[in-house]
Amino acid sequence: MSSKKALIIGITGQDGSYLADYLLKKDYQVFGTSRDLSNHSLINHQRLGIKGKTEITSLSLDDPKGITGLIEKTGPDEIYNLAGQSSVSLSFQKPLQTFRSIANTTLNILETIKTLQAPVRYYNASSSECFGNTNGIRADEETPFKPCSPYATAKSAAHWLTDNYRKAYNIYACSGILFNHESPLRPKNFVTRKIINSVCRIADGSKEKLVLGNINIQRDWGWAPEYVEAMWKMLQQEYPEDYVIATGQTFSLEDFLSRAFAHFDMDWKAHVEFDQGLYRPADIEVSSANPAKANDELAWKARYAMPDVVTKLIESELNSVAV
Ligand code: NAP
Repeated sequence: MSSKKALIIGITGQDGSYLADYLLKKDYQVFGTSRDLSNHSLINHQRLGIKGKTEITSLSLDDPKGITGLIEKTGPDEIYNLAGQSSVSLSFQKPLQTFRSIANTTLNILETIKTLQAPVRYYNASSSECFGNTNGIRADEETPFKPCSPYATAKSAAHWLTDNYRKAYNIYACSGILFNHESPLRPKNFVTRKIINSVCRIADGSKEKLVLGNINIQRDWGWAPEYVEAMWKMLQQEYPEDYVIATGQTFSLEDFLSRAFAHFDMDWKAHVEFDQGLYRPADIEVSSANPAKANDELAWKARYAMPDVVTKLIESELNSVAV
C-alpha cells in the first residue's frame, strides 16, 4: 500500500475522475467527495474503470464541520479542490450558487487546513476566465485578473484566498490557472461537447440543425487527461507556486466547428443556425496563454492542441458504449 493519500473534493466531475484515475495508477489511496452520492450515477468513474476503487463521502461543501471531520478522518497528504459550479454560461443565471460553490468552499477548506494545522498540500482549481479580455496578450502568472462573469469573479476570489493563506499561514497551497480542457467526460451542456455530439449525429444521417451563439470567440483548448498530471506536478514542487496550464495555441470556435464537420467531409455552414439568446451577457473575445513557466519548472507540456482534441473527441463519441 502506498504511503500517500489524496482527497479530491469534487471527485465525480471531469477532472476529478481523471485525477482519481491518475493517482490510483501512482498507487495513491484516493478519497473523494460528492454533494449527494446517493443520487449520483458515478458514470465518469464507470467509463474510466475506477468505480469502487476510491472512497467517496457525501459532503455539503458549505459545512465546515463536515470538511474538518473528513480531513481528520482521512489524513490526506494532498487535497485537490475541483468542486463547484463550472459553467460560465450558467453562472449568469445562478450567480449566488456559483459564487458560494467556488469561493465559500475554497475558504472553508483553507480555514480547516489552517485550524487543524494539517501538514497537507492544497491544490486550487483556478481558471483562465479570471484574466478576462487580455487584448491579444498571452496571459501568464503575472497577468492581472479582469473577470467578466460571476464564475470568473468567484474563481478570482478563490485564487486570491489561496494566495493569501499561502503567504499568511505558510500553507503549501497553489493554484493551477487552467485554460479550457476537454474530454468525453465534459458535461453535455458545454459547447464543445454539444458540437461533437451533434456533428456525429448529423454525419449519421440526422437532419437536425446545430444551434449556436457566438462562434467568433477564441480559446486555448487542451486535452483534460494531460491537465491532471500538471495538477499533481504542482504539488510535488519544493515551494508552492501558481502555474498557467494551457497548450499555448489559440483557435476560434468557428475553427473548432469547421474542424469537427471537416472530419466527415461536411461544411459546417450547411448545418448550423445561430441564436442570439445563446450569447453570454458578457464574454471574453480572445483567451490566449503563455504556459512557459509550467513547461520549464514542471517539465509539463501539452501534447494535444485543438485539432487533435477534436479528432479525439469524435473518435471517442463514435466508439462510446452506453454506461
Ligand atoms: P465538472 O466536471 O463540472 O466537475 C465539478 C464537480 O463539482 C461536479 O462533478 C460536481 O460534483 C461538483 N459541483 C457541480 N456544481 C456544484 C455546485 N453548485 N456546488 C458544489 N459542487 C458542485 O468540472 P471540471 O471540468 O472537472 O473542472 C474541475 C474544476 O476546474 C472546476 O472548479 C472548474 O471550474 C475548474 N476549471 C475547469 C476548466 C475546464 O476547462 N474543464 C478550466 C479551468 C478551471 P458532485 O455533483 O458530485 O457534487
